Amino acid sequence: MSADPNASKVLEDAFFVREEEWEQARSEDHVQNLHPIFKSILRGTCETFPWQFQQSPGVELLRGILPFFGGKSLVWSGWCPKPCLESTTSWPLSFTQGLREFLEAAEDLLQVVSSSEVYKGELQAVLKNLLDDNIHDKKVMFAPLAMGGALCKKFCTAAPLLSLAKSHKNFKIATNCLVYEIVNNNGTATALKTSRGEVKLYDTNKLVLCMGAIPSTALVLNSFPTFHHIGKTVVTGMDNPDPGKNKATATRLAPDLVANPTEEQMQSSKEGFVILVCIGIGEFGENTESGVERTNGDHLNCDNIKIHVKESKADQAVKTRMEDAMQDVLRALSPQGRIDFWDSSCNKWKKTLPGDVRSSIIINESSTMPIEQSVDINYQLKGTNNVFLTGNAILPIQCGSWNPTLTIVALARHLGAQLANN
Ligand SMILES: Cc1cc2nc3c(=O)[nH]c(=O)nc-3n(C[C@H](O)[C@H](O)[C@H](O)COP(=O)(O)OP(=O)(O)OC[C@H]3O[C@@H](n4cnc5c(N)ncnc54)[C@H](O)[C@@H]3O)c2cc1C
Repeated sequence: MSADPNASKVLEDAFFVREEEWEQARSEDHVQNLHPIFKSILRGTCETFPWQFQQSPGVELLRGILPFFGGKSLVWSGWCPKPCLESTTSWPLSFTQGLREFLEAAEDLLQVVSSSEVYKGELQAVLKNLLDDNIHDKKVMFAPLAMGGALCKKFCTAAPLLSLAKSHKNFKIATNCLVYEIVNNNGTATALKTSRGEVKLYDTNKLVLCMGAIPSTALVLNSFPTFHHIGKTVVTGMDNPDPGKNKATATRLAPDLVANPTEEQMQSSKEGFVILVCIGIGEFGENTESGVERTNGDHLNCDNIKIHVKESKADQAVKTRMEDAMQDVLRALSPQGRIDFWDSSCNKWKKTLPGDVRSSIIINESSTMPIEQSVDINYQLKGTNNVFLTGNAILPIQCGSWNPTLTIVALARHLGAQLANN
């Protein structure tokens, strides 16, 4: 990329890559791996919301999808914790076994490494020791991050998919193609209606949906309108945020694209202080008033999908617990209480925690077509003969609030192995 980019130069660089730059461009796809100027181009502006979202107290927004090749992996933060075993005890046995069998392969694919290997300075160890010494009843670990690629780059699905397309003749990618209906004959998918025409499926073809939780639920609702076991739940993570010298490196190595310090915070931070951006993730409980449903709108324009998420008293209690937990962490990191909080209402550091640090944004939507309820233990959509599902939609309800991608990659590999064996 050019050293001094402007909008037209960025487009020139991005679209007209010289032959010798192609290999490098293919591996530099996550927005944080690119020049920092892409951050402002992609962040927020390219997110789309192909649904109607019904707001309710405490629930303002469900983060959108990224309708591009690479999907959300273009911007994801790469946190890859393994699900804790306690949260999988009620899962179907074959599902748990599949998860265990393929977790390592998923970590290899996503190039997961410990944050202590990415950030090699003394700070990581100092922070970990403080947490070990001052938090006794919780597990403290270095974050597993999908950043093990060359130069600690974030993993993104685009590069491996392009490599597969290059090395396997039968692996085809269709861009600019919106799938809006699965044509089926008594539960056997026979064709896909798409914005680029109809794609016929043959008798032996198996259709695997991997389009993100809400879009795949929308496609199933629009293709099999008589199915009653779809979209009854939306379980999501709730996001609870608290409050250079080398800008490019700082942007690239920030563990989280969304939650990293602003330039203002960095410039006003005093010597001897470390800026920590704290985010808690909790899980909404099951709620019969939450769900995804099909309405009368136009499904070709994705206008007929309605989502509602209702916050219960238990969910509010989880948010309070998340806030308390974050304050516990901060106190553990600075037992002498030398903590300043960022107050975004006046853009200043203050000694006291600003009043409202709660976010009403929900992320990591999942469990809209959960295993056993909508999908059988072989990942097959119930009521169909050749439609399979993967991704966050199939996660069991109330499965835990860990970041889900490592798990869904492991389960997708399990499904892939089963299909290959059959
Ligand atoms: C800012 C951000 C940070 C995140 N950080 C983390 C993290 O740290 N750890 C973690 O585990 N997870 C994180 N996630 C979540 C993670 O990105 C998702 O869990 C993961 O990308 C889901 O993968 P997917 O392939 O199922 O869906 P997606 O990544 O959403 O990909 C779906 C693809 O399907 C395409 N598609 C959708 N509908 C259609 C249609 N009708 N026709 C054709 N194509 C369609 C989309 O365009 C997209 O390319 C984060 C997400 C965001 C947005």
